[in-house]
Amino acid sequence: MEDFSKLCLHTFTNKPWNLSQCIDNYSKAGIKGISIWRNVLEGLDLKIVKKQLAEADLSIVSLVRGGFFPSVNASERALAIEDNMKLIEEAAVLGAPLIVLVCGSDGRQSLETSREQIQEGIEKLLPLAIENGVKLAIEPLHPMYAGDKSAVNTLAQANDMVEAINSPYVGVAIDVYHVWWDPNLEVEIRRCGQNNSLFAFHICDWNVPTLDFLTDRGLMGDGCIPIKKIRSWVEEAGFSGFNEVEIFSDKYWAMDQNEYLDKIKLAYLKHS
Ligand code: ZN
Repeated sequence: MEDFSKLCLHTFTNKPWNLSQCIDNYSKAGIKGISIWRNVLEGLDLKIVKKQLAEADLSIVSLVRGGFFPSVNASERALAIEDNMKLIEEAAVLGAPLIVLVCGSDGRQSLETSREQIQEGIEKLLPLAIENGVKLAIEPLHPMYAGDKSAVNTLAQANDMVEAINSPYVGVAIDVYHVWWDPNLEVEIRRCGQNNSLFAFHICDWNVPTLDFLTDRGLMGDGCIPIKKIRSWVEEAGFSGFNEVEIFSDKYWAMDQNEYLDKIKLAYLKHS
């Protein structure tokens, strides 16, 4: 029996679809988890979305994405906090247990300063997150994004921050795309396990060569990431949540999305 009980799709993986199409097609495909990107929620009544998800027997795994805390301008930093607070409230209405944080970076200041502002930002959100029962996951991003998308680039840095904040509501999201190259990965995954801070696991592949920094991710099996090995470390560390397929790919977005969904299911069984 094929097992898709732990398979979750990020709506951005099927970017050509709106949220209703994602919900209908995932449900028909026997997929049980969905991580919803904010763009597909625009203009929708979140209470109705919650009902649609329940009717489709889909668990909402996370709301993507908050963060973007650092800036040289204090007013920008304050706006980011406001926006993240709104997101926490949206997650609560949807029943989403987790928000994934792309922490941000500002190339006009040092990475150290950006990291201080990230920690400060998360600490400001924490009371509201706790009040709403919504957890926050720091997702370390590949160093190629250190200048603009995240000053948290290794799992060690994410773990350091989680330990400094020291709340059961703050943990990490591990995305194989961002951390597969790290020689300390296994050790740092074990550290997440000891901290009970491994909140999410994202999968895709690293194309060789990669043609675009943002929109040329591979489907599992297309590239060079040892996904099964990393998944085994994650599971040894006690993680039993969903395996979330998150792929930004101009190539796959150009395909018929139902055919693509079939390919994803096969790749999931075979290569992850
Ligand atoms: Zn991710």
